[in-house]
Amino acid sequence: MENKTKEFDFLENKNELLNAIIEFSEDAIISKTLQGIITSWNPAAIKLFGYTEAETVGKHISLIIPSDRKEEEDFIIGQVSSGNKIDHFETVRQHKDGTKIPISLSISPIRNKDGKIIGASKIARDITERNELTEKQAILVAIVDSSDDTILSKTLEGIITSWNKAAERMFGYSEEETKGKHITLIIPYERLAEENFIISEIKKGNKVAHFKTERVAKDGTLVPISLSISPIVDSYGKIIGASKIARNISVEQANIAEKERLYEQAKNLSDKKDEFISLASHELKTPLTSINGYLQILNRMIHDEKAQQFLNKSQKQVKNLIDLIGDLLDISKIEAGKLTIANDKFNICEVINDAMELIVNSNPDYEISIQSDVKELFISGDAHRIQQVVLNLLTNAIRYASDSKKIIVSLQKNGNEVKIGIRDFGIGIAKDKQENIFSRYYRVDNTNAYISGLGIGLFLAKEIINRHNGMIWVESDYGKGSVFWFTIPI
Ligand code: ADP
Repeated sequence: MENKTKEFDFLENKNELLNAIIEFSEDAIISKTLQGIITSWNPAAIKLFGYTEAETVGKHISLIIPSDRKEEEDFIIGQVSSGNKIDHFETVRQHKDGTKIPISLSISPIRNKDGKIIGASKIARDITERNELTEKQAILVAIVDSSDDTILSKTLEGIITSWNKAAERMFGYSEEETKGKHITLIIPYERLAEENFIISEIKKGNKVAHFKTERVAKDGTLVPISLSISPIVDSYGKIIGASKIARNISVEQANIAEKERLYEQAKNLSDKKDEFISLASHELKTPLTSINGYLQILNRMIHDEKAQQFLNKSQKQVKNLIDLIGDLLDISKIEAGKLTIANDKFNICEVINDAMELIVNSNPDYEISIQSDVKELFISGDAHRIQQVVLNLLTNAIRYASDSKKIIVSLQKNGNEVKIGIRDFGIGIAKDKQENIFSRYYRVDNTNAYISGLGIGLFLAKEIINRHNGMIWVESDYGKGSVFWFTIPI
């Protein structure tokens, strides 16, 4: 304390005080004669222009004036000679290394004790940072102005402090109409509580992102928006307000509503179609069952060989039709969640053999063999449904392999599951189609245009296997054949 007072006493001398100010000033302070000869050069000038005092004192000031600004010196000297001051004259000077420095100059005349002007003192402030900041601000203003989103700021009390062009378009109020007003101007009455929530989050320093809400425009219409709000922090780190970005999401919402409408429409149509298929299948099944019955009676009555042959063919076709209608009815049941699966213990080997026998009987020219070491394996589930799957896979193996008469069935016990495979040597399925073939109504169009079908067999098979907690998949080489695999837990 005592030391400080002493120092101060020492500086009481006016000249000393001035010297100290010049020495420690952050601005460059230079003096020169009316002829432009530099007479003093402070440490800040050394820092700003790169020349030492020894390099400048006695030299002409044009040392630091860029060649295209030499005439400025005549103007300055002219003003100073007439006793005028120049304040905050923004110009450019040159560093020792040639770089140009934007500066703000203040120049005053220096008078001798008789009041005669003998020179000039210059204070030069580097305004590079300020210029950069102004430039940055200009860029930000341009961005905010050209944004399609509303950008506004408000104090923590909710008073609007800025309002961009997009906000004018979105809400119909001009900047003058909103600046200084409370933000509740655009908040619908029933949503006023949202503002308390937003401000409380902002006060905690939190951001609120993509908050979907509604605001009210000047003409009373509600604007659906997505709001993102961030705290505004001053240079001391204190939260002083909030910046809001609001995006109009009416188009987005209209699109979602339209999608929902189309989805509902498609679902309704699909439900109607399922309903129709279910009804039609029921209606078709009754007369077909009678036809089947009459054909069986006829079979017993007719003994003519040719007529017997035709009768057998008719019975086979009727059976195909009954199976098809059965499949269609099952699809309706799946859609309605009404496909029931029994849970009995049964011998899977027997089910596979029975299915093979049925297929061989109606396709005597096919060679269907089984590869298995297992003769008996009991699993839980629905024997009838599993047989339906195997019959389906065997029928496909015949239908999609017109040039080959060979089918290999395999059955293995793999840990705690049974794995069954049905291999054909037919047309095969291209890799990119393999994933789709288990979808409802899907058919590989380019390979089987000549084979009729509805694309429901594999969909049904998958549903039945899934309901047994098993898996079904295909391994296929296009043009060489396929193996359809399925597993069922034991
Ligand atoms: P559908 O045979 O009535 O068309 P599926 O659901 O049984 O219906 O089969 C779906 C599609 O999968 C078939 O249209 C066919 O393109 C293909 N596919 C099924 N099994 C085979 C197979 N063994 N070989 C080649 N393609 C097959």
